[in-house]
Amino acid sequence: MGVIKALHSSISNKIAAGEVIERPQSVVKELVENAIDAGSTVITVEVVEAGLNKIKVTDNGSGIQEDDLELMFMRHATSKIENDHDLFHIRSLGFRGEALASIASVSKVRVITCYDGKIGRQIDVIDGEIVNKTLAHARQGTEISVEELFYNTPARLKYMKSLHTELGKITDIMNRFIMSFPHIRFTLVSDEKVLINSSGNGNMQEAMSKIYGMKIAQDLVEINGETGDYKVTGYIAKPEHTRSNRHYMSLFINGRYIKNFMLTKAILEGYHTLLPVGRFPVLAIHITMDPALVDVNVHPTKQEVRLSKEPQLMSLISQLIKEKIWQQNLIPKVEKKS
Ligand code: ADP
Ligand code: MG
Repeated sequence: MGVIKALHSSISNKIAAGEVIERPQSVVKELVENAIDAGSTVITVEVVEAGLNKIKVTDNGSGIQEDDLELMFMRHATSKIENDHDLFHIRSLGFRGEALASIASVSKVRVITCYDGKIGRQIDVIDGEIVNKTLAHARQGTEISVEELFYNTPARLKYMKSLHTELGKITDIMNRFIMSFPHIRFTLVSDEKVLINSSGNGNMQEAMSKIYGMKIAQDLVEINGETGDYKVTGYIAKPEHTRSNRHYMSLFINGRYIKNFMLTKAILEGYHTLLPVGRFPVLAIHITMDPALVDVNVHPTKQEVRLSKEPQLMSLISQLIKEKIWQQNLIPKVEKKS
């Protein structure tokens, strides 16, 4: 008899969770992405003890139909793609159908949802299995609570940094969502204190001023341009506002926050010699393109992307930044000593 066995889903989901759910921030990211994909305009995230005790995300989106409640925790089950063609034309933030299966395998999850504005339903999931299903009071939309994250994976729990650091990471991802979707009203509540509250009025400058402060907001300039394949818009801070790391540079492709070495290089080339060595700008840039030109299926967290026609996009970005800085005469003035 052979020795190979197919793993039970409760184990294979935990293995997948190891990649997708690294810390409370990853749970917040996945739940908020789902809320955005559901068409929500108001999204509230509440955390207790930096999310290690509890994370609750409430949205006013589509809600979930009764039949789907059974399927939403199954790995590779998704409402967002169906076939090969869809996989190469992704417009939603999610598509892998593995976040909820992963989260549910390392925590205790409750979903309360209302799909038709009338009947609310609740399910409780422990170790990936539905343990309770009832009718419940609910408003249109969905509320997902994740409790006792990593209760059954002690090694992962041990690896968590201080509550302060974990909360900082959650704040960070929420700020990226606010810059990525300024039309959505986001709130972050930590241990009953409101930490972040965006207006959702679509004003990027206002969103950035809440995140980076008034001083930066007053010194932001808009960039805007396109080539055949790419459209680039955004706000860049004048070169005198530099930072010691790349953290303050946010790049979004079709709404998704991404990290990309070559595009970062193009931005720095745009500023050219105006940035002192080891200093980086503050900016938020939105790139819109045909989803067929970007492969987001590179890494489970979907932050890494591969781009077709990358050089074209790089030169558009550096050109736009360069033009703006010279055109507006934004070069910091060096005082001459007499
Ligand atoms: P994916 O987002 O890749 O499809 P997930 O595991 O994150 O996979 O979610 C599984 C499915 O559950 C989604 O495809 C969606 O249909 C449904 N879902 C999850 N969260 C929400 C939500 N907040 N509102 C509506 N539907 C949701
Ligand atoms: Mg998802």
